[in-house]
Amino acid sequence: MNSEKVMLENCSGRILAQEIVASFPQPRFDNTAMDGFAVRAVDTVGASADSPVTFSMKGVIPAGEPTDIVIGKAECCQIMTGAPIPEGADSVVMVEDSGGFGNDRSVDIIKEVKDGENIRYCGEEIAEGEILINPGNHLDAGEIGVAATFGYGNIEVYRQPKISLFATGDELIEPGNELKPGQIYNSNFHVFAELSDRVGAQVIMRTVLKDNTDSLKEILSEALITSNVIVSSGGVSMGKHDYVRDVFLELGVEEHFWKVAQKPGRPLFFGESKGTLIFGLPGNPVSSFICFMEYVWPTCERMMGLTPGKKVTARLLEPFPRESEKRRYLLGKLEMDGLEIVAKPSGKHGSHMFTSAVGSNAILEAPKGEKVLNTGEEITAKLLPWCELK
Ligand code: AMP
Ligand code: MG
Repeated sequence: MNSEKVMLENCSGRILAQEIVASFPQPRFDNTAMDGFAVRAVDTVGASADSPVTFSMKGVIPAGEPTDIVIGKAECCQIMTGAPIPEGADSVVMVEDSGGFGNDRSVDIIKEVKDGENIRYCGEEIAEGEILINPGNHLDAGEIGVAATFGYGNIEVYRQPKISLFATGDELIEPGNELKPGQIYNSNFHVFAELSDRVGAQVIMRTVLKDNTDSLKEILSEALITSNVIVSSGGVSMGKHDYVRDVFLELGVEEHFWKVAQKPGRPLFFGESKGTLIFGLPGNPVSSFICFMEYVWPTCERMMGLTPGKKVTARLLEPFPRESEKRRYLLGKLEMDGLEIVAKPSGKHGSHMFTSAVGSNAILEAPKGEKVLNTGEEITAKLLPWCELK
């Protein structure tokens, strides 16, 4: 997968795969912070509104142009913000402290300046060769601005995993259409698309498939060629029409595991084919959301050079149902209580109850265990990466 060079204007939100180094000192040359007059500070001694000091004018230095003007005793030149300081000058009187730019032969200065006043010195911000941004950082406004400041027109960024998304199920209808008896709206697909975008993957295929081996085979075989990651929902359980795993195996996918001792998400399938990673997530919406966040999201992060965020420990505000043979996940809400993180598990425990996602900002998890975890006991939790802990 690795990395690719991308033009600066297309780098938004990508992950840096190179160092951004100061290719020159910043500022690159001594220049003026103000529009005004470049002078020798010593010549302004005694200048005031009541007793102006007159300077003779040697010319004008606009920003963006080199100059060969040399400033001597009681001499000055007009200088515009960002323009290089001419030889001989050691400070800049701002135009507000003068008679103005109206006269190109001389100017009255009405305020003293100190040596160095209004000058931005070469290298005062950054020395040449300094490492400014390390690989693994997101390119947001600050990083893009710094790269532009130091002249990077192209940037080496991690490739975005190409991800193909599938929903399977004869019962699925797209939102916006009318439901017939027995049908349900396809929500998983839309959750996957949102999560893929948000983690920074590139969705290259999104298809809703019927529970029929021929259509599964045709589409999944194409996805195996074009994708780095395939994520499907549904059809990996023990149902009579759960064909997804069979089709993947028929297509030569090497199974790494099928079924995980967890609730929800037990039927999770994971395999690989020629470098393409395949996640067969169960169809129940809470299961597929949690499996995406626990398995697919961190995989995409690692493919892009990111380190997945750490889980935290929180104190339970309400009991958490444990399973004797399985890891138990529930959506829930994390909050700060002083310096402590507290957790409130969703009261909706069913893996079909996707409304438990609204108002939740975390996935809570307990390893297998005999008893319920009681209020006040500790639980492990993963804050959803786009949520804040308040
Ligand atoms: P399955 O894993 O195919 O047996 O599906 C388990 C449950 O999840 C069934 O009740 C399905 O109707 C439901 N389901 C499957 N796919 C989706 C989907 N894309 N959106 C919402 N619910 C789904
Ligand atoms: Mg199904």
